Amino acid sequence: MTSPGQVWAHVGQPFQAAEFDVVVVGAGRMGAALALFLRRLAPHLSLLMVEEGGLPNEEGATILAPGLWTTLDLPRQAQWSQQDQWSEQAQWTREQLASAFGEMPFEPCPLIELYASPLPGHDHSPQGGQPSAAVPYESSAELAREFPVLRELANLDALPLARVDRQAALYRPASVALNAAQQAVRLGANLLLNTRARLKHAPGPQVMLERLTVTNTHQIVTHEVKVVRARHIVVAAGAGGPPLLEHGLGVHTQHGRAYQQYPRLNLPSPPGTPAVRVSGLTLRPQHGAFTLIPRLHHRDPHGYQPTGGHLTGVPTGLRREVLEDLVNLMDALPALAGPHLQVGRSLSDLPGAWVTLVRGDPQAPPVWETPAPGHHLLLGGPHADTLGLAVAHDLAQHLSQPLAPMP
Ligand code: ADP
Repeated sequence: MTSPGQVWAHVGQPFQAAEFDVVVVGAGRMGAALALFLRRLAPHLSLLMVEEGGLPNEEGATILAPGLWTTLDLPRQAQWSQQDQWSEQAQWTREQLASAFGEMPFEPCPLIELYASPLPGHDHSPQGGQPSAAVPYESSAELAREFPVLRELANLDALPLARVDRQAALYRPASVALNAAQQAVRLGANLLLNTRARLKHAPGPQVMLERLTVTNTHQIVTHEVKVVRARHIVVAAGAGGPPLLEHGLGVHTQHGRAYQQYPRLNLPSPPGTPAVRVSGLTLRPQHGAFTLIPRLHHRDPHGYQPTGGHLTGVPTGLRREVLEDLVNLMDALPALAGPHLQVGRSLSDLPGAWVTLVRGDPQAPPVWETPAPGHHLLLGGPHADTLGLAVAHDLAQHLSQPLAPMP
């Protein structure tokens, strides 16, 4: 029976350790899941999780992530065998979400995607002999009998077709992160909170750990700096991961990030309300109303600072690109045109977070890679809700193979 690991929550608790088999930077859902899987697969490896904030960090992507598991979003691969592989990974992730994270709610909730006409190349009929991943089109008017909310939200004359993922489900990614980190600690992982990690050029993988504290004038300052050596460093720092590797090790990555905002639509969503999607905009039932998950078009340019936009001359917290999309959708989704849409007056009125984009592509699935010896980058991104756990597990399996001696 393994004894629980140590947790250092604040700088008053002395931290002396100098060496671990694996250091995981970032305890969002990707890093926390990796740590848990690694404790299960390789309990002999000493493990330290380092997190800049608390659990979960209010600034990370995990706390705001939609928590919508669906196979409608699986990456479309030219080869169907690859597509099947993603389907398997999605199903595995679903089973984990439904059972492996304690009392976390995991609620089946169909996702209905409405269309004006079939997508080019996606004319999948039920009889067409298409691969299993293809979802057939249905009549949206028929579906509205089962889900009357469709008529309240959308103009079904303009959107006569629908595809439904009846297996889709809602959950809270922040609960996954918290539960995974707690389980990992119970199984022997160590956890250093309020600590910013930086990577260091050295003869072997090393991290500089800045233990942070808050002054009585509310400034965050570094209390002390510690250096630890590791055989393997996993950077699971969300959108902050690629810059960490670039600054610390000078390696180039092709990844990008985008600032994602989540406005509210204050229309009622009683139990049984499906999630609805039109042109990439998803309406997710949450807390009795809807959270909007806007389409991510592309990476934000290097140095982009999030700023609000203007709607008919009035400043909004919602960024311009998203406002334009919502305005363009108002005919198809008249619900957006009323007073129920919360666009905020300034940026701070709207929940938002940086989402990592693998190779800068919003469609790309989560990934892990080894950009420098002993340094692994684990990225979740927009599809982490459906595939993240499987990819974290894959990296844990890789790391649990016999490790090379300490460099
Ligand atoms: P993911 O979905 O990949 O888990 P998140 O953004 O939710 O992405 O999580 C990344 C976590 O990594 C956040 O909790 C953030 O505080 C943490 N983090 C980012 N940079 C650092 C760093 N330099 N040192 C320690 N933790 C970091």
